[in-house]
Order: sequence, then structure tokens, then C-alpha cells
Amino acid sequence: MLTVKLNEKSHPQHKTRVRLSESVTFGGSEVVIIGGPCSVESLRQMETVARQLAIAPVQALRGGVYKPRTSPYSFQGLEQEGLAILARVRRQFGIPIITEVMDISQIDAIATHADMLQVGSRNMQNFALLKALGQAGKPVLLKRGLAATLEEFLGAAEYILSYGNPNVVLCERGIRSFDPYTRNVLDLGAVVALQQLTHLPVIVDPSHATGKRELVAPLAKAAIACGADGLLVECHPEPEKSVSDARQALSLEAMIELVRSLPPIAAAAGRTVRIAEEAIAA
Ligand code: PEP
Ligand code: MN
Repeated sequence: MLTVKLNEKSHPQHKTRVRLSESVTFGGSEVVIIGGPCSVESLRQMETVARQLAIAPVQALRGGVYKPRTSPYSFQGLEQEGLAILARVRRQFGIPIITEVMDISQIDAIATHADMLQVGSRNMQNFALLKALGQAGKPVLLKRGLAATLEEFLGAAEYILSYGNPNVVLCERGIRSFDPYTRNVLDLGAVVALQQLTHLPVIVDPSHATGKRELVAPLAKAAIACGADGLLVECHPEPEKSVSDARQALSLEAMIELVRSLPPIAAAAGRTVRIAEEAIAA
């Protein structure tokens, strides 16, 4: 029996809350907005992102330093140097940091600096990694596999929980389909189903789901409308110059505009969005 599943005794009111920082929690009334570039490229890049987004269009910054690339000849991430950049920006701006862990050997270094560890789609069923993350002492953002069923997705989450870590947030990021027009197909039905099947928070990544920046904001809004607990959106100071996933990156201005458009949609779904006075005035 999977403990990630809701049973007769647990119901949506008993949702798990996953605490990211003193003031940011997944699974409460406030939706959590995560933003940042696909890859950490430089200190300057991350400072620019943080300076513009940290005053609450976003509650956490995400940038990859170990990148799971389809080709071994593509940029693989800044690794330790990238981690140091994230750590510095975290200190400087007082904002939680999330980054992807691809291998057990990276867990200690990443857990030292990041507030949450992301498991990417390609590693959703890396069971050795999932078991190790059960012991990592940090919340985990678990992305749905490229073609994973919901049962497989919940089974992967169960590994982390059963090895000792109750702090798991699920992320729907689109699944493989036949049509290359969009990178993947955003499965919003799965978001609703997961909210009914499990007590874990569920967020949506409309960036990898679509692969096209012009599709990101409408699907982000749809995700909030159907009850997602948050969003993970890729954005960059110069989107077309992104070293990875350039085609889907929003500009920082578009990111701010997206978050500012969310409150009425969240309200219709019984949720709130945190937007600082400064961000409204900007
Ligand atoms: C990413 O978040 O940059 C990423 C590689 O995502 P996914 O694992 O969903 O493909
Ligand atoms: Mn990416």
C-alpha cells in the first residue's frame, strides 16, 4: 500500500506541507512560484535574475548546474562553480535555491548549498538515487518521467518517503506524444488526478511541457486554475542567448507579467499568490 496515496483516513484537508524556508511552504493556501534559467551560466546572470525576481514575483530560484543533456557534446553545466554561484546568490538575496541532482555522488555538495533538490524526468526511476534522497535531509522536487504513468510517478515518490524523507513535491512537466509541435504534452488531467490520489503538493512546469515561450504563460494560468500548488518556469535575462532550452525561456519582464496576472486565477481556485508591493509598483 503506497503511503503517498490518500486513503479513507486522509483527505485533501490533510495535505502534506513541504517547507522550503521560514516563509515559503508548498501545499498551503499560497501557490509557490519558482523561476530561473535552465542552466546557471554566470554569477552576473544569476544576480540579474535574482535582482529582478526575488522581490516576490518568485519564492525560489532554480538553475541547473548538473545538466542532463541529450547529447554528451552539449553544455553539461558549471558543476561546482555553478553551485558556488547559487550559494552566493542565495546569501546575497535571501532567497531559497533549487537545483537538480543527477547522481548520488552529488547529493552532499548540493544539499550543503541548496534548499531543495530536483530529480529530473530522466532520473525519475533512478531508484538508487531516490533511496539516497530519502536520507538527504532536504526537500525533493520530483519531476514526472518523460513517459511515466501516474502509478510509476507515485511509486518513485514512495521510494523517497519510504527511505525517510516525507518532503516531496511532485512536478508535472509534460509527457511524450506523437506531435513534435510542442516539446511534450502538458497533462493537466494528471495534475487534477494527483491532487485526488495523493497528499503530496503538485506543481507544474509549463516550460518543458511546451518547449515554446509563447505557450508558457497560458498553460501556467491553466495549471493554477486547475489547482496546482505552484509553478516552475524557466526565464532568462536574454532568453534567446540561453545556453540550454533557449526556445522556451521567458524574459524576466514576461515572467513578472505572468506572475502579476495570476492572483485572480488563483483566487478562483481558492488560492493566493504572493506579490510584493515593490513588484506591483515596478
Ligand atoms: C530542467 O528542469 O531543466 C529539466 C532538465 O527538466 P526535465 O527533467 O523535466 O526535462
Ligand atoms: Mn531546462
